[in-house]
Amino acid sequence: LFKVRERGLLFSATKVLKAVDGISFNVAPGEMLGIVGESGSGKSTTARLLLGHIPASRGEIRFGGEKVSAKPDADWRRMRRRMQMIYQDPLGALDPRIPVGLQIEEPLIVHRPELSAAERRAHVADVMGQIGLLAHHGTRYPHEMSGGQRQRVIIARALIIDPELLVCDEPVSALDVSVQAQVLNVLDDIRTRANFTGVFVSHDLKVVRQVAERVAVMYLGRIVEMGDVGEVFANPAHPYTRALVSAVP
Ligand code: ATP
Ligand code: MG
Repeated sequence: LFKVRERGLLFSATKVLKAVDGISFNVAPGEMLGIVGESGSGKSTTARLLLGHIPASRGEIRFGGEKVSAKPDADWRRMRRRMQMIYQDPLGALDPRIPVGLQIEEPLIVHRPELSAAERRAHVADVMGQIGLLAHHGTRYPHEMSGGQRQRVIIARALIIDPELLVCDEPVSALDVSVQAQVLNVLDDIRTRANFTGVFVSHDLKVVRQVAERVAVMYLGRIVEMGDVGEVFANPAHPYTRALVSAVP
């Protein structure tokens, strides 16, 4: 609610902003869908909607035929185990007071109570190895790691419960280009082996080209075009996509 005083009169009004509006798309099993768009175009909102982090005011989101609810009930928890999200800021997503090995183990304690402590630790060692972290890294605190290592910790924590869907919101944007490449290679590698479905949000065309098969281009809260990555970027139809493509050498 904001109030505007103008020419001595007091107006009251509520301003409703539609962060996303009228979007509709499917992601096929095993596919990686890229979402590009300028800052504020609604990419993160779309990502959060997919996982039921925020409710949609209209429409519905389905995951494997089941409706995704944003109410934190038993259905929501069961479904949340099957989908994971990786955020842009690796430091903000980790607890500074807890060694990273324990933070990677934590989702197992929550979602797989049937495992013994020894089994959990074996899983942690396994996933750390897959992601290119050394065993002794597990005793480190987040601030004792590099940005690329921290992002690997986040990825390890998302992968440890074998999600069917991994939503990545700008997972490498905070990293320098060489570390970006390493982390993307790790993701690519894991994806071919684990065969999960992914949604990859980025404002970086080059990154989306590398990881995604299909791309949705968002502009002002809407999907303005969508299709095969190579085709969309070779023949961009929307002015925003054209501007984006021509900005990349
Ligand atoms: P960026 O590339 O900067 O991360 P984005 O495409 O992810 O941008 P969103 O975070 O989805 O954009 O935001 C879309 C719009 O919704 C923006 O105008 C933003 O200001 C607004 N918005 C997002 N979250 C909220 C919120 N919790 N309350 C109010 N407005 C919000
Ligand atoms: Mg965002």
